[in-house]
Amino acid sequence: MASHLMWFRADLRVHDNLALAAACSSGDVDVLALFIAPVKQWQQHAMSPRQAAFMQSQLNALQQALAQKGIPLMVKQADDFTASIDTLREVCETHKVTSLFYNYQYEFNERQRDVAVEQALSHITCQGFDDSVMLAPGSVMTGNHEMYKVFTPFKNAFLRRLSEDLPECVNPPKVRPEGALSDKLVPIELDYPQQSFDSDLFAADEESALSRLQHFCQNHVANYDTQRDFPAIDGTSRLSACLALGVLSPRQCLHALLKACPDALEGQAGAVWLSELIWREFYRHLITYHPNLCKHRPFIDWTDKVQWNHDSSALQAWQQGKTGFPIVDAAMRQLNQTGWMHNRLRMIVASFLVKDLLIDWREGERYFMSQLIDGDLAANNGGWQWAASTGTDAAPYFRIFNPTTQGEKFDKQGAFIRQWLPELNDVPTAAIHAPWIWADKAQHTINYPRPIVDHKLARNQTLAAYEAARKRN
Ligand code: FAD
Repeated sequence: MASHLMWFRADLRVHDNLALAAACSSGDVDVLALFIAPVKQWQQHAMSPRQAAFMQSQLNALQQALAQKGIPLMVKQADDFTASIDTLREVCETHKVTSLFYNYQYEFNERQRDVAVEQALSHITCQGFDDSVMLAPGSVMTGNHEMYKVFTPFKNAFLRRLSEDLPECVNPPKVRPEGALSDKLVPIELDYPQQSFDSDLFAADEESALSRLQHFCQNHVANYDTQRDFPAIDGTSRLSACLALGVLSPRQCLHALLKACPDALEGQAGAVWLSELIWREFYRHLITYHPNLCKHRPFIDWTDKVQWNHDSSALQAWQQGKTGFPIVDAAMRQLNQTGWMHNRLRMIVASFLVKDLLIDWREGERYFMSQLIDGDLAANNGGWQWAASTGTDAAPYFRIFNPTTQGEKFDKQGAFIRQWLPELNDVPTAAIHAPWIWADKAQHTINYPRPIVDHKLARNQTLAAYEAARKRN
C-alpha cells in the first residue's frame, strides 16, 4: 500500500497544519510522520538549550496527539545536512513512501536543503506549503512586483489582502481508518544541550498553547495597545516560543483575534496586536527576498563599514546584566533566567549594545539566539537590524535610545527592575533608574556596578562612527 510521509520541521502541531492536512486528505493510504532532530550545521542558526527543551516537550505532545489519530511519529537524528537527506531517503524506501509533505521554511540554508531533498527524492512527489505565514511570501508586493522595504506600506497592503481573502484554518486530521495507536509511546529525548523552561510562562504542549491564545484574546488583546510597552505588566501574549516552533499557526492567532475583536482589520480594538503579527510576516517575507540577511549581512550595505568596538569586557557586562543601567541589566537577567525578554526591553538592550557600546549588532543577535526560547532567525535578525539602523527601519541611524529615560518612561516605579535586580531593593523609587547618584549622595554602598559608559559621550561617538561609515561608502 502506498504511504504518505509528513515531515515535521518548525510546525509541531496537529491543528491547522496545511501539510499534515494534505497528507491525511485520503483515507486510502498509510500516513507516517517524521521529525529529524536539527543539528547545528543543519539549521541556519544554533538553537538555545531552552528552545531545545521546549522543542522536546512539544515533540512528546505531538507524538501523543498523532498517535491518537493513528499516525506514528518517527524521530531521527542526523549529524549533518547530507545525513538528513540520507535519513529521509532511507525512511522513504523502507516505508514505500509515494508522497512527501512538508511546510516551507524560509531561512536560506533550509531552502537549500529542500531543493537538495527534492532532487534526491525525484521519484517521490514532494509537496510544500506556505503554512507558517498568513500570506505567502510573494503575495504582498509593491506595484512593481518588488518586496516592500519599509514596514508600514507592507502592512497596509497586507491588510488589504486579508480583507479581500481571509486565510482560513484547516481542520486537524481525522482518526485514521486503522484507529488510534495502542502501543505505549517511548518518550522522545533530543540529543542536544537542554535547559529547563517554566511551563507556567510558556505553553508546553499544543493544547495549552491553544488555551493560552484563547485566554489572551478574550481577556487581554483589546488592552494590548495600552499595556504592551510596560514590562512589569503581563500585557503581551508570550506566544512567541509557540509561533517560532509552529506549535501555533498565525492563522489560528488571526481567527482567535477576530473572534474577540471583529473589527481589528479595520483598525479597531486588537489592531495593534495584529500589527505585531504582521511584523512577524514582514521579516519572513524579507528573508525570502533578501537571503543575505540569513548570512547576517546588513540590509543597508554602507553600515557594514561602521568601525565597531571589539570590547569583550563590555560585551560580557551586557550579557551578564552588569552594565550599571538598571533597565538594561534587569532585561538581560530576565533573558538569562527565563529565555524570554519583553519586546520593549529587546529594543532597549539592543540599542544599548549597538549605540552605547558600539558593539557589532551581530554579537547581540548571536547572543540572543543562544538564550531565547523563541529564537527565530527572521524576527531576531529583523529586530537587531532595526535597532542597529542597518535594516529596513524608516528612522535614520541617529535615533538612539537613552537607557535611563527609557527606564523612567516604561518602568516608572521600578517594579520590573526590582524584580530582576534584588540588589536595588533598598534604593528609593525616585533613584531607581540612576542608583549610583543616590548612593554617592547618601553615601550608601550598593552591590551594583557604576555605568560602564557615559551615555552622552557614547552617543556622540556612535553618531560619528556611523557618519564616517556613510561617507566612506
Ligand atoms: P506579542 O506582543 O504578544 O506579539 C504576538 C506575536 O507577534 C509574537 O509572539 C511574535 O510572534 C510576533 N511579534 C511581535 N512583535 C514582533 C516583532 N517586532 N517582530 C517580529 N515578530 C513579532 N521575536 C521572536 O519571535 N523571536 C526572536 O528571536 C525575536 N528576537 C528579537 C530581537 C530583537 C532585538 C527585537 C527588538 C525583537 C525580537 N523579536 C523576536 C520580536 C518580539 O520582541 C517578540 O516576538 C515578542 O517580544 C514576543 O513576545 P510575545 O509573544 O508576548 O509577543
